[in-house]
Amino acid sequence: MGPPGAGKGTQAQIVADRFGIPAISTGDIFRANVAKNTELGIEAKRYMDAGEYVPDSVTNLMVRNRIDEEDAVKGFLLDGYPRTLAQVDELDGMIAYTGHRLDAVVVLTAEPAELVRRLADRAHKEGRADDTEDVILRRQELYLEQTAPLIDVYRKRGLVCEVDGLGEVEEVTARIIEGLGKVEES
Ligand code: ADP
Repeated sequence: MGPPGAGKGTQAQIVADRFGIPAISTGDIFRANVAKNTELGIEAKRYMDAGEYVPDSVTNLMVRNRIDEEDAVKGFLLDGYPRTLAQVDELDGMIAYTGHRLDAVVVLTAEPAELVRRLADRAHKEGRADDTEDVILRRQELYLEQTAPLIDVYRKRGLVCEVDGLGEVEEVTARIIEGLGKVEES
């Protein structure tokens, strides 16, 4: 977890590779569907372009189907999910059903000024439709309002590993791996 621009996608991919499990990014799945113009993509695009969350019903079903795929049987790393309390409940139900267990929740932190800088940089390089200034502000607002409160929910379960997202990519990865070891011990 972490605000837009904290580096979730980058780190999720690297960390998942280390553990030999898939990184499942809801944002990436939505974007792939938008690119292919699927029904899901058309529905999701309306929300994404405005910086709003895609409705829970749509997102939950998508994640449920994804973690049912063969490559996720041994485990998986979720990037960008859950983002609402309803999604937390839904995830609990899903993994109870598949027989998995939530091992840890990595929270990437970063200062607001750095976040804005990174997102502006990404907008320049990748041209994502939701990386415009007003949409970025809305995404940050929604994160604080709806998603940041989930950190406490997971902290109470003793699952949270908070990591400073500032610095070189490799440095941040090393902090995550170290933090995950500590969650496991406790
Ligand atoms: P970022 O975290 O940098 O904003 P993501 O790629 O994770 O980018 O998500 C992009 C967009 O996809 C979000 O702004 C939202 O519209 C949608 N989305 C991704 N994950 C979820 C989710 N769990 N619930 C609802 N909407 C989501």
